[in-house]
Amino acid sequence: EQDVAEYMKSLAIRVSGFEVPRPIKTFEDCGFSPQLMNAIAKQGYEKPTPIQCQALPIVLSGSDIIGMAKTGSGKTAAFVLPMLVHIMDQPELEKEEGPIGVVCAPTRELAHQIYLETKKFSKSHGIRVSAVYGGMSKLDQFKELKAGCEIVIATPGRLIDMLKMKALNMSRATYLVLDEADRMFDLGFEPQIRSIVGQIRPDRQTLLFSATMPRKIEKLAREILTDPVRVTVGEVG
Ligand code: ADP
Ligand code: MG
Repeated sequence: EQDVAEYMKSLAIRVSGFEVPRPIKTFEDCGFSPQLMNAIAKQGYEKPTPIQCQALPIVLSGSDIIGMAKTGSGKTAAFVLPMLVHIMDQPELEKEEGPIGVVCAPTRELAHQIYLETKKFSKSHGIRVSAVYGGMSKLDQFKELKAGCEIVIATPGRLIDMLKMKALNMSRATYLVLDEADRMFDLGFEPQIRSIVGQIRPDRQTLLFSATMPRKIEKLAREILTDPVRVTVGEVG
């Protein structure tokens, strides 16, 4: 089997002094498993969107990323597909129970959308996905998390509640996505985000998506991402 990260690095181009993987043109270029290619075809995704062309090889190579692109550009698959590859790459997947992939989103509607998109692709992999947001019974969520999962899609407030209840531990988490970071800040979730990030090991891969990059988000990005590659597609704030 092909090592996707090594393959992407072999295609690297140099941009402003550091290596950035070349954009891909087709999903075939990503080195995805036949299983994942089938799931993508089943969704009717014929080719990657522009943000996916740029972001997929960067994320698959293991880099941190700051992604800016307008709504509807396909950012979800840009972090979900590499998240599944990342999880399938883990040795001894069975040993522990906490999530490997953690996705934070500003609202329950968004978290639910990401959950549905993730489920479409994860089904064929036997990867367990839990959604954690307000409006659902805390006890049910607690039980579900206790049973174990590989991916958590959460709003920051409810994830903090679950962490306080020790419904899950983050010792296995190595892939963190902050989606719509600017909206999470607008909703006052900065302390919760910082607390969540603080509970995830520093050698994680971190992905931050935001429609705008106000100074507060820049500051957070500098603090929590490691040598991130910036990708901007189209005209965004
Ligand atoms: P964003 O997060 O950038 O606002 P989404 O990830 O929600 O965008 O994607 C918007 C829509 O485009 C969704 O319905 C999604 O299923 C669809 N989509 C994503 N990637 C592709 C693709 N490569 N081909 C066709 N449709 C896609
Ligand atoms: Mg989105």
